[in-house]
Amino acid sequence: MVQWLHSSSRPSHLKAAFSPEGLKPLARMRGLLAIAALLVAVHGKETFEGHQVLRVSAKDNVQLSLIKDLEDLVELDFWRGATHVDSPVDVRVPVQILQAVKSYLDTWDIEYAIMIEDLQMLLDAEQEQMRSTDPTDEPRSTDDFDFSRYHTLREIYSFQDMLVAENPNLVSKVVIGRSFEGRPLNVLKFSTGGSNRSAIWIDTGIHSREWVTQACGTWFAKQIVKDFGRDPVLTAILNGTDLFLETVTNPDGFEYTHTRDRLWRKTRKPTRGSRCVGVDPNRNWDAGFGGPGSSNDPCSQIYRGPRAHSESEVKSIVDFVKSHGNIKAFISIHSYSQMLLYPYGYTRTPVRDRAELHGLARRAVAKLASKHGTQYRFGSIINTIYQASGGSIDWAYDQGVKYSYTFELRDTGRHGFLLPADQIIPTAEETWHALLVIMDHAFRNPY
Ligand SMILES: [Zn+2]
Repeated sequence: MVQWLHSSSRPSHLKAAFSPEGLKPLARMRGLLAIAALLVAVHGKETFEGHQVLRVSAKDNVQLSLIKDLEDLVELDFWRGATHVDSPVDVRVPVQILQAVKSYLDTWDIEYAIMIEDLQMLLDAEQEQMRSTDPTDEPRSTDDFDFSRYHTLREIYSFQDMLVAENPNLVSKVVIGRSFEGRPLNVLKFSTGGSNRSAIWIDTGIHSREWVTQACGTWFAKQIVKDFGRDPVLTAILNGTDLFLETVTNPDGFEYTHTRDRLWRKTRKPTRGSRCVGVDPNRNWDAGFGGPGSSNDPCSQIYRGPRAHSESEVKSIVDFVKSHGNIKAFISIHSYSQMLLYPYGYTRTPVRDRAELHGLARRAVAKLASKHGTQYRFGSIINTIYQASGGSIDWAYDQGVKYSYTFELRDTGRHGFLLPADQIIPTAEETWHALLVIMDHAFRNPY
């Protein structure tokens, strides 16, 4: 079960920390992991008892590279990767190797703090919250839908159908393709008419474990219907522009986060010749594909896939955007970190429209903060979060979609991907304000 990747190339200081003494507990641990694997088989669900999320801070580049070496260990799940000295790294460490990892950090005098003491406790709280709804009490209309809870794929898809049925003159459902496991890739189209109008694309949930994003996407859909005809800014936008909203961009992964592994990020397509499943759908785009900040290791959380657009969840959007031909803004929503980012992620070369995108981001995050005081950082992906190759908004920008942005929603690491459900609505509200600033600007500045 314990697999060391690139063991032949594992740097000597890492070997020194984990072996020979360090490897003994790991060897013992194999038995434990085998038991854990059995438990998974019996209960059908991954358990994270005793797993911790550590925030690791490098004080210089030597420490940074020591932290980066840990990324070679497949059982470590980096929630925020190692990039530069000033930005902390969040990593989920399984209980079985917790002591070994902490000793490694201590050995090299690397500072860390425990962000999440016991991951399973947060997961249990989340489950309890979801279960407190009476399953027979299904909403009959989108007005009854409880936006302050997390929902299953079935519930979200049923919400979409209700929204379309209730608002046939404004909302329709476009199925742009099928996921690897055959689920429909649903996109909600908000349109007041016209033919091939300029359009704005918004997607949430391409990384399945970022649950607050699918929840916000669902809230946005309802908000659009509520505000059309009332909010003058949105109404003006919709009178000239179509909106496309894909709320569950990675439905296979999302279903899996509900049934098996809450922390699943990737698609669910098996990789030939590997025991590991799935591709990072935000490293799979034809934009610096295969470059730094992506991995060719199928077991990595940032595995780019065998080739660009190998994932149908990605290819379907690519085909849709290309065939539409008139998309003017492309906004991809992730969590967490509280950032608003524009291209590029794969290269340090600034985008042509940097000044405009930067100024617009500044206005959007100011508007966002005005709602609940939530502070966002902003800038290009590579300068603000980390180098990442093969990302969606870099691809969109290179296709000529000038207003390409990525949000990283709440929080900054206290709960990470397990944002409590009572923060869904405030997160959606503040994000919506920022989205309106961007959409309004795109609408008023045709190109
Ligand atoms: Zn993400």
